[in-house]
Amino acid sequence: MLESVLIANRGEIACRIIRTAKRLGLRTIAVYSEADADALFVQMADEAHLIGPAPARDSYLRIDRIIEVAKRTGAASIHPGYGFLSERAEFAEACAKAGIVFVGPPASAISAMGLKDAAKALAQQAGVPVVPGYHGSRQEPDFLRQKAYEVGYPVLIKAVAGGGGKGMKRVDKAAGFDAALESAQREAQSAFGDPRVLIEKYVLSPRHIEIQVFADAHGNVVHLFERDCSLQRRHQKVIEEAPAPGMTPEMRAIMGKAAVEAARAVGYVGAGTVEFIADGREGLHPERFYFMEMNTRLQVEHPVTEAITGLDLVELQFRVASGEKLPFTQADLAIDGHAVEARLYAEDPEREFLPSTGKLWALDFPEGEGLRVDMGVEAGDEVTPYYDPMIAKVIAHAATRDKALARLAEALGETIVAGPKTNVAFLKKLCEAKEFREGHFDTGFIDRNMEGLGAVAQQTDGEAVRLGVLKLFDVDFDESSYRASIFNGPVPSPWDDRDGFQLSGARRQSFPVLIDGERADVLLQWPEPSQASANINVAARWADGTSRMLDDYMSKDPRNFVLTDDGVIVLRNGRQTRVSLYDPFNVDLEHLNGGDSVKAPMHGKLIAVFVKPGDRVEKGQRLAIVEAMKMEHALISPADGEVAEIAAEPGAQVAEGARLVVLKTEG
Ligand code: ADP
Ligand code: ADP
Ligand code: MG
Repeated sequence: MLESVLIANRGEIACRIIRTAKRLGLRTIAVYSEADADALFVQMADEAHLIGPAPARDSYLRIDRIIEVAKRTGAASIHPGYGFLSERAEFAEACAKAGIVFVGPPASAISAMGLKDAAKALAQQAGVPVVPGYHGSRQEPDFLRQKAYEVGYPVLIKAVAGGGGKGMKRVDKAAGFDAALESAQREAQSAFGDPRVLIEKYVLSPRHIEIQVFADAHGNVVHLFERDCSLQRRHQKVIEEAPAPGMTPEMRAIMGKAAVEAARAVGYVGAGTVEFIADGREGLHPERFYFMEMNTRLQVEHPVTEAITGLDLVELQFRVASGEKLPFTQADLAIDGHAVEARLYAEDPEREFLPSTGKLWALDFPEGEGLRVDMGVEAGDEVTPYYDPMIAKVIAHAATRDKALARLAEALGETIVAGPKTNVAFLKKLCEAKEFREGHFDTGFIDRNMEGLGAVAQQTDGEAVRLGVLKLFDVDFDESSYRASIFNGPVPSPWDDRDGFQLSGARRQSFPVLIDGERADVLLQWPEPSQASANINVAARWADGTSRMLDDYMSKDPRNFVLTDDGVIVLRNGRQTRVSLYDPFNVDLEHLNGGDSVKAPMHGKLIAVFVKPGDRVEKGQRLAIVEAMKMEHALISPADGEVAEIAAEPGAQVAEGARLVVLKTEG
């Protein structure tokens, strides 16, 4: 076995690799950026070395610095995890040159599978079915349009150098081809520095089914069955499972063999995944699956395969990297039960899944048989804007698919996470969705069901506000006992009339608060002494004049109230509602909502401002662009008016909620 390993990665996958490495007795060496100085993986490793500032290109993508640390610390091997440098042939080469074992395939295999066109050509030569289309070198629009016509619409234009679901355009009719091609090429150039594309038939009712392969350096190649990753959003996986619903042993054997052939064709060694797209219109069919690409690394979703095979894939990676033979043959492998993984992200499904950052005020997962949680953060940590906003992966394993999904849904329901907005409720609803439960789904399932999954803008949760207010004012709302004496005497409220509050002697008081960052006033009214068992009434009025009595809702589970530095976050029905005291002397003006300010939707970089002070703008007009998480977000004027102030310069890093443009609006 290897003596030591440097983990050229961060977050949950670094933690996961360190865990197995330690069990195998390897010395573990972490490298980290300035943003990760206190991260869990840094604490877990035997030693940790700073390699640069937060942006990945200055740290986790710096091959020179990582190799330098590896040499200095005498690392016997480097594990690249997934993402970052894991599929960069030059990194594998740099390791080889420095005499360090790269825990992954040979550089030649990475290169061979690196570009989608060459990979498809290779797979085809190896007798593996590929998606019909054009993956040659010609790139003239006229020629490609002709090819799309021959392939037949709908087609998918894909960046040859693509990854992460980016640089992909579906085209349904010839009329849309030219514009889609241009935009695909532009995106490919900016994301991957390579404008080349290929044309593929868009497979209808597509199911993403991938095969985990494993090869040693002695010519043995096996597959560890399939994973179904059809629940996707923007071509990115959300929930993954193994085995695939509807898979037959016959089709599994055929797909497994195809994947093994593809791996053999490039002299593969280590863990890899061959991704196929299957036409699911009439269920899975052994003649209707096609090679898409090969990922020459460990996948995010490898835990579901570990669950059904009982293997530790990272251990196998280390064994193979140190020259050992695979400890089993294909015939030794069998599937045990069913496993499902959900990716818990710091993102807001109610706001088009915008990544959400900030401090994790609470983070707690249930434990139990058949449950596994792979995480890279703890309560108190910060979700930063620099990296992928995944908080954790929750994996459930049970005897049947239905039981595994039920267990996962239950675990998600018991998960406590407060601070950044998350997709936890969305994931739970997905696990419970009837059609998905019944095995009727394809890659379009999420897009077709956004509303039912709660991924739409929703009203402030009034009940949560009420609970938050009571908590904030330290009122013990355990039915009959009131500790309402913290405020003395009734204070006349300026808005009695409008809200129809009964004045008759009851004690009332109003307070300024922030509800999810919005300025509001709340009015508390205590019951009269004669009604000793009645509840405290709470009403709230927002800055825009809307007001409402908040319903009577009691929750006694203290886990659903998470205290922050300035208030409380109430967890209810999978949503978070934040209530804090409004302190006029300690207001973060930049983040305060006003009707006339346009704010950054997330942490990012202001890349363009299209207006200047004094300009007249119309409602809906594009004012500026913020780039974050590799996506551009346009800032739109909320009303007609005049630009009063531009609060940041292009090029500036801006915080989520920061006021960027202030408008003077009519009326
Ligand atoms: P990436 O490198 O970004 O992962 P892939 O080629 O693996 O690119 O495709 C990503 C996703 O896009 C797939 O999982 C699938 O959902 C969808 N997709 C890719 N090719 C096709 C196709 N020909 N027809 C239908 N969907 C496709
Ligand atoms: P209760 O019926 O106990 O009031 P809710 O219906 O409000 O519970 O929420 C159900 C469970 O979902 C809670 O017990 C909590 O564990 C979890 N939960 C609610 N909101 C969130 C959230 N934003 N993040 C994580 N977990 C949450
Ligand atoms: Mg892929």
